[in-house]
Amino acid sequence: MSEEFGAERTAPAAVDTDEQAGREHPEPVTFLDLGIDERVLRALAEVGYENPSPIQAATIPPLLSGSDVVGLAQTGTGKTAAFAVPVLSKIDGNNRKPQALVLAPTRELALQVSEAFGKYAVHMPNVTVLPIYGGQSYGVQLSGLRRGAQIIVGTPGRVIDHLEKGTLDLSNLEFLVLDEADEMLTMGFQEDVERILADTPEFKQVALFSATMPSGIRKISKKYLHDPVEVTVKAKTATASNITQRYLQVAHQRKLDALTRLLEVEEFDGMIIFVRTKSATEELAEKLRAVGTPPRRSTATSCRRSASAPSDSSRTARSTSWSRPTSRRAASTSSGSATSSTTTSRTTRSRTCIASAGRAAPAARATRCCS
Ligand code: AMP
Repeated sequence: MSEEFGAERTAPAAVDTDEQAGREHPEPVTFLDLGIDERVLRALAEVGYENPSPIQAATIPPLLSGSDVVGLAQTGTGKTAAFAVPVLSKIDGNNRKPQALVLAPTRELALQVSEAFGKYAVHMPNVTVLPIYGGQSYGVQLSGLRRGAQIIVGTPGRVIDHLEKGTLDLSNLEFLVLDEADEMLTMGFQEDVERILADTPEFKQVALFSATMPSGIRKISKKYLHDPVEVTVKAKTATASNITQRYLQVAHQRKLDALTRLLEVEEFDGMIIFVRTKSATEELAEKLRAVGTPPRRSTATSCRRSASAPSDSSRTARSTSWSRPTSRRAASTSSGSATSSTTTSRTTRSRTCIASAGRAAPAARATRCCS
């Protein structure tokens, strides 16, 4: 057994931003350095953005200077402003025809992006942003298109519908943004996306944002983008600041020993243990009962899912929980290696929760779910 218990595992502090050539991109100190339209600058200050995020610092200048960009960045990195700010800075408010089209995989994202554009365009009264997505009646979209909008944010299917009906004219398009491009491919929009790319004016600027770079995206980039600047931003690992994570590596057959030892030495009000399968909850519950720590076992969702938890039910973890009435600690062990997590500002007294395992640290999610 390795003695790593007690070693702190902290989230990576730095965000790596690499340009195409592998050079470090010097991060400008303020938005002022980036050459953004003054009205957009004012809006950014009003929404409270003090400095550009790394993806913004790396992509705004090339987009403003007319280059195509491939940004490998996840949600949460500030990628929306990374394309919205340069698009707004270059848009012609006097021309009501669509000049920018943002394609997003879902209605929710289209609305979110559209709202973000609206916030950054608050001092540009001539600029209109119109979301068009499946599920909304055509009437609203048709009257919006008739009135004119410089920026269209849409889902690929609905954009194609409007193109086919002749209700969306993209002949003046200057910017095309593919947001969450990998998601669009996963959702089966490749053909639609390629069709839109091919059917819009050749001399437009394209920005492609994607969390990953599967071969389909690489192909699209090669085929439709012109010598793009490539930017990669690694998202910070999201870990709540009031949670300390520790881990202990143990051989599979020693996990119960390690867990029982943890139960003896750690003080806690409540504990949630994540295991992989339903049968593992039963097995572990049985073993803990045998060593004198009877748990309450649960394999069904017993409390509200946290807002950020993925909806995929296959990610629902099984947990075994039990409580001791005295102290202020919560710990959890995952099925791979034992993990102890200590909360310092809240307790989990006698509560049972089945948390979605998702991609976040199980303990962090469990605490959120049960609080
Ligand atoms: P996004 O990755 O575009 O979904 O953005 C994630 C969150 O970061 C949103 O709530 C934005 O409002 C916020 N955000 C984007 N850029 C900045 C910035 N430069 N400073 C502070 N917050 C930002």
